[in-house]
This record gives sequence, structure tokens and C-alpha cells, in this order.
Amino acid sequence: MSLYKNILLSVDFSGHSENVALAAKTLAEQNQANLHIVHVVDNLPFNTDPYGPIQFDIDFTQELLDAGKTHLAKYAAELGIPQERQWLEMGSPKHEVVRVAEENNIDLIVLGSHGRHGLGLLLGSTANGVLHHAKCDVLAVRLKE
Ligand code: AMP
Repeated sequence: MSLYKNILLSVDFSGHSENVALAAKTLAEQNQANLHIVHVVDNLPFNTDPYGPIQFDIDFTQELLDAGKTHLAKYAAELGIPQERQWLEMGSPKHEVVRVAEENNIDLIVLGSHGRHGLGLLLGSTANGVLHHAKCDVLAVRLKE
């Protein structure tokens, strides 16, 4: 019996992403589930109070999104994830990952216990936020240094 139908892999493209991807892909195969992938381009500091207003650069934002999309497409292709299940978002990673999960009937989110921000906390802030706010199951793959 399959426990999950739609699994969402959440990647930040840090060095540990491959371990997280392997767990998500294996679970998708075992459950005969659809594997989705999401990457969130982190919020830019639109409002940097201490320095006063800084001009918001639309070209730079577009460049970031384009680069993210290209990287995501390549990464997803290696995992055999089709374009219609690739999600490139911009904003706060924890909020966007939860939103994409809700909008696509995801029943399991797979992410790393830590990402780019290191092992300083018991769980990274994205992992923590997703765990608290997601309505579906969440697997935090334990990443070691
Ligand atoms: P962190 O909480 O930043 O230490 O990251 C924990 C995990 O959350 C990472 O291993 C990724 O699986 C996921 N994650 C972090 N940042 C992003 C992002 N920008 N987009 C998608 N997933 C992310």
C-alpha cells in the first residue's frame, strides 16, 4: 500500500542537497508517488532601514530568478522530475515551501535538517518553520557536518 501520492523535495542547492534528494527519490519510488521539487529564491532586503531606502533593482531580481530556474531545471532533470512538477518561487523559503505543498496536494515534504546556514541550531530555520506550519507530513533528513 502507498502511504504518499505526492512528495515535495525542497532544495537549497547546498552541499547536502544530494542526500536529501536521494531520500525523496527513494521514497517516491517506494510509494509510486509523484515527485515534485521546489526551490525558493530568498527574499532580497527590500527595506534596509539602517541605511535608508535602497533602489530596488528589477533586472537583478529577474537575473536571480532566471539563474534559479535554470539551475532547478537541470537539477530536476537529473532526478527525472518533469517541468510541470518543478516550482521556482521567490520569498521566504519556509512560507513558500508550505504554500506550494498546500496548492499541490503534497502529502510529504522532504527537506534537510540544515542548509546553507549551518549546524548552529538543532534544526535550521527553514526546516523548523516548515515543520511547524505544514499540514502534511515532513521528513527532515538528518545532515551531519
Ligand atoms: P535551513 O533551515 O536553511 O538550515 O535549511 C534546511 C533545509 O530546508 C535545507 O536542507 C533545504 O532542504 C530546505 N531549504 C532551505 N532553504 C531553501 C530554499 N531557499 N528553497 C528550498 N528549500 C530550502
